[in-house]
Amino acid sequence: MKKIIPLAALALLAITAHAAPLKVVATIPDLGDIAQKVGGTTAEVYTMASGLEDPHNVLMKPSMISKLQQADLFIVLGLDLEHAYAPALLAESRNQKIQLGKSGYLDCAKGISVRDVPKSLDRSEGEQHAQGNPHYNLDPGRMKVAAGEIADRMGQLDPANAATYKANAQAFGAKLEAKFAEWKAKLAGKNIKFVSYHPDMVYFAERFGLTHVGTIQPKPGVEPGPRYIDELISKMKQEGVTLIAKESFYSDRLPGQIAKATGARVISVPIMVHGTKAASDYIAFIDALVNAFAGQ
Ligand SMILES: [Zn+2]
Repeated sequence: MKKIIPLAALALLAITAHAAPLKVVATIPDLGDIAQKVGGTTAEVYTMASGLEDPHNVLMKPSMISKLQQADLFIVLGLDLEHAYAPALLAESRNQKIQLGKSGYLDCAKGISVRDVPKSLDRSEGEQHAQGNPHYNLDPGRMKVAAGEIADRMGQLDPANAATYKANAQAFGAKLEAKFAEWKAKLAGKNIKFVSYHPDMVYFAERFGLTHVGTIQPKPGVEPGPRYIDELISKMKQEGVTLIAKESFYSDRLPGQIAKATGARVISVPIMVHGTKAASDYIAFIDALVNAFAGQ
């Protein structure tokens, strides 16, 4: 019986499902997870990044091009986060439906408020956040907005299922809202002052009232010299920083050296869905991040 029931369910799905599922490609797993939750049974979602790598430097694979060739919708976090790989793959795909400016290209950053927009741009120093800070996937509030944008665009591309996409996004938003109180309570009253390796924690810190004192990188994507490290150590001592949040894909060397000099504790944190085993979907990812900061 155990084998017969799923097969019967599959057969039923094949009859009732949309004739051609909406084919979606998302850059990071956070967008992939949310797109799948919003798209439900009528969307097929492929995600480019594994979640374990630096989101600025995702390894390009030929399979990504074939997925883009067949896609109806391409979803990016935007603000140049995907600058190192997405534009090249998109051009290579030659899929006109999903090129920049077309209805099959969704830049979720268009609908959210962006932090750290630079007054001047100088990529010669390796500036990775030329359009502002792209790591808003660490803020559940902004990702609730992104879920609504994904539902709207899926509805435009597949009007027959627009109401379902909208309802799915609302259900996801309601789940996030329900978790907010729990996340805030876990971090409340801890007066957490921390530094991170890369400036990817600003939205998270702002949302949950943590004090983000600085970063090991002097600029996004730029590795520090000894003088900068000395200055950071002095600043951490002055401001009583007790925590270093090291994104899981960075080396332990500098965080360890700074921890030794300051007495701060180092925690390894995911910055995307699938960044650790526990971060199995978007809500589990924020759970893992909150628990790491709360010392649980
Ligand atoms: Zn970054």
